[in-house]
Amino acid sequence: MRLPRTPDFEREVGRFSLQFFCEECAYFRHSTCAHEWPNREHQRPEHEPAEVVVFCKEFELR
Ligand code: SF4
Repeated sequence: MRLPRTPDFEREVGRFSLQFFCEECAYFRHSTCAHEWPNREHQRPEHEPAEVVVFCKEFELR
């Protein structure tokens, strides 16, 4: 699921401590997905945040 990274979205991330990157997911092991999903778009960006957040439907909070 793709969602534009709007100012409203950023406020909600802070307000609700939202987590959604692979790095916070229980299935993330050694930079790969334990379920073998292609996860490049779901990982935390190294530099500037992307304009779009790509959510993984199988995200499971650690
Ligand atoms: S299940 Fe989704 S969020 Fe979790 S590690 Fe795999 S690709 Fe990333």
